[in-house]
Amino acid sequence: MTLFLDVNNVGALIRKIGNTAFMEGLLHYMESDFTRWSDFDKSARTAAHSKDGVIELMPVADDLNYSFKYVNGHPKNPHLGLSTVMAFGALSDVETGYPKLFSELTLSTAFRTAVASIMAAKVLVKRDPSTMGVIGCGAQCEFQAIAFHTLLGVNEIRLFDIDPSAVTKVIKNLKKYPNLRVIQSPSAKVCVAGADIVTTITADKTNATILTPDMVEAGMHINGVGGDCPGKTEIHSEILKSGKIFVEHEPQTRIEGDIQQLSASHPVHKVWQVIAGKEIGRDSQEQITIFDSVGFALEDFSVLRYLYDLAVKFNIGETVELVPSLENPKDLFSRTLQYSDVGNLDAL
Ligand code: NAD
Repeated sequence: MTLFLDVNNVGALIRKIGNTAFMEGLLHYMESDFTRWSDFDKSARTAAHSKDGVIELMPVADDLNYSFKYVNGHPKNPHLGLSTVMAFGALSDVETGYPKLFSELTLSTAFRTAVASIMAAKVLVKRDPSTMGVIGCGAQCEFQAIAFHTLLGVNEIRLFDIDPSAVTKVIKNLKKYPNLRVIQSPSAKVCVAGADIVTTITADKTNATILTPDMVEAGMHINGVGGDCPGKTEIHSEILKSGKIFVEHEPQTRIEGDIQQLSASHPVHKVWQVIAGKEIGRDSQEQITIFDSVGFALEDFSVLRYLYDLAVKFNIGETVELVPSLENPKDLFSRTLQYSDVGNLDAL
């Protein structure tokens, strides 16, 4: 039987241990998976683009587990009362192909994206960061804010969004963190001035320039999260050229990341190599570092493994017959008969 976790089940799991412990645990799973990068069969995700959005499939596997995530990106969705990003996914046993887990991944993606940002920032940011400017206050924003506050010690977050009501929502939600100073900024420029970390997490299906060279200061770490699709970028190309760039899976980021604006030969660094201690991250306290995050399947593999282990431990979720349980695996057909009380196959 397959374990099924819906949004309520995942919410209950997170409530059971608390947001901070949930993110700490996920960080541990993710760092250990990134450290054994070469064990994985990796590919860039497949994407079906349309006028207003994209739907993507993200597979990855090692010798034991296979996972995939279905995820969309539709920046106009909030006007329709729907989320910009929605996701679900599965974890299977490689030896048999049996699906072990089928799970919601919308909430989980927001946590995993924030934790991936922390995983990169931990090895790239300058000493003792205390302030972060966040441009984009949509669904992902609070997850980034609480991850940087609780896991990295950032105690001041400045916010900017072209939609003031989005900022108000974030300020209200972050009231639960009394040691975090949250400031509404009048402009993107004021938001990032003097910040140790800048997170761009806007949604627009266009080559936007959220961050311009005049806004960037020596030593900043840029956590570029919203530019994650062909034709959808946030960071001015001159900033990219002036900093040291780190990526998840290079072939995917070349297509989807902010670096799509650069030549294919522009040097980038693999973040997993820094996490694994094989390469140095930041070269100096003055250097500008850029994590060009697009979201890689391995991060979802980590979150699915983590959710599965937590759900088993706390006995949360439901087991469902996602694939038939058969006494005789060769006799699939007899399974169709048990639903027909008149024995008439054509009535099925
Ligand atoms: P959302 O639609 O809920 O929020 C986006 C916010 O950006 C909105 O509040 C909007 O008003 C704001 N915005 C748009 N243009 C702006 C601008 N020029 N200046 C300031 N604010 C602006 O979307 P979300 O779910 O929060 O996702 C945000 C982005 O992050 C999306 O582009 C999504 O694709 C991306 N994302 C990336 C990853 C990753 O792994 N890298 C994971 C999840 C989401």
